[in-house]
Amino acid sequence: MQNRTLVRDLNDKLGQTVIVAGWLHRLRDMAKFGFAIVRDRSGLVQVVLTAEQLEQLKGLQVETVLKVTGIVVEKRTKDPNAHEVEIQATTLEILSPVTDVTPVEINNHDLDARLETLLDNRVVTLRHPKQRAIFRVQAALVHGYRAYMEKQGFTEIFFPVLAGAASEGGSEFFRVDYYGRDAALTQSAQLYKQITMGVYEGVYGVSYSFRAEKFSTSRHLTEFNQLEFEVGFIDSMEEVMEYVEGSTRGMFAAIQEECKEELALLNVVLPPLGEKFPRIKLIDALHVYKAETGIDETHEPDLSPAAERWLSTVWAPKVHGSGFVFVTHYPETKRPFYTKLDPEDPTSTLSFDLIGFGSEIVSGGMRVNRYDEQLARIQSKGLRVEDFEDYLMMHKYGIPPEGGFGMGLQRLTQNILGLANIKEATIFPRDVQRLRP
Ligand code: ATP
Ligand code: MG
Repeated sequence: MQNRTLVRDLNDKLGQTVIVAGWLHRLRDMAKFGFAIVRDRSGLVQVVLTAEQLEQLKGLQVETVLKVTGIVVEKRTKDPNAHEVEIQATTLEILSPVTDVTPVEINNHDLDARLETLLDNRVVTLRHPKQRAIFRVQAALVHGYRAYMEKQGFTEIFFPVLAGAASEGGSEFFRVDYYGRDAALTQSAQLYKQITMGVYEGVYGVSYSFRAEKFSTSRHLTEFNQLEFEVGFIDSMEEVMEYVEGSTRGMFAAIQEECKEELALLNVVLPPLGEKFPRIKLIDALHVYKAETGIDETHEPDLSPAAERWLSTVWAPKVHGSGFVFVTHYPETKRPFYTKLDPEDPTSTLSFDLIGFGSEIVSGGMRVNRYDEQLARIQSKGLRVEDFEDYLMMHKYGIPPEGGFGMGLQRLTQNILGLANIKEATIFPRDVQRLRP
């Protein structure tokens, strides 16, 4: 639209005639005149309407799409220092009339709806400023990630979603009829990331992962995105963790720069990052958990959700001033066949999770890069070698010592914003029940 001014830029246009376009967020009819609150992608503005303009809106509901031409004037408020502006409308044009009442009220400060109602009516509820803010933060996280990776000189890769064979084995696959053949949706970009280690040495990308999770939980979707990373010619797992930490700090910087208003609207106080994210071996973490809480999970091969929560919201902030903690050296039984075994203890792996503000956000580690070693690991896991032809081909033709990670984008958004359910951090979530909208 030519000559349109966004609401956020109106402050600089005092006394000028402007064109503003957006949705009718709220209407107050004072008989002789009226107030329309108009919402665009940048904010809300009050528009003063004449009786004739009010008449134009007769029978129309909120969300009607409007084009307003008017003069920017200082708004009369009780606070003399407020310096807010409003628009004195000269003409009003209706771009798209709405005659139905919205299924959920979206013009209150908070959206008062159960999660299922909110998602059933996503088409409309997404328009609420707080909902909008969530996905602005998510976008800024991705900007920060991409900017960090580009600065390192790494290459962005676009991974396929359709695959002929299971990428990592396991049963949680969605099957697809592919011209009569059995295909599947990828559970991860693991194979593809690793193949590129024969070329680019450092890659990143945003992938889609599909998992036929058996249950709906507050932390699992059936379709989600991962911020992927893989790097070659490394000496240790520590190097991979440094990239996790660097990119995470870059993402936090991006949201602080790009999303001040959104964070304030959502009442989010970002948890501290600390000087350096602490690193702790799984077994040591379980012992600390036992010593401090009395809960003994030292014989478990993994952290329980409660232990993840305690470690990242109580222990790490208190002891290390950080809401993030790396937990390392998971047992061989808990990590996939491509994870490198710890040379000092082959029952353990060179693997890590990053736990942040409540739960696991990242999984990563060093990968097996030699052919013989990979063949042996596939066999010892009881997997069929013939299913891994493409996998083994890259090892056969030379892959450097390498490692990488995958970071759950919706999980990260959920934890940073303190949302109770991951579906709130997913613009169009899919779970065991939900496939719409
Ligand atoms: P979890 O133990 O939390 O189920 P995982 O270890 O099975 O996750 P990974 O394969 O390590 O998952 O995936 C990498 C990251 O992707 C996880 O750290 C998490 O942030 C995210 N993630 C994994 N599964 C899901 C899911 N079903 N829905 C949303 N995000 C997920
Ligand atoms: Mg994991």
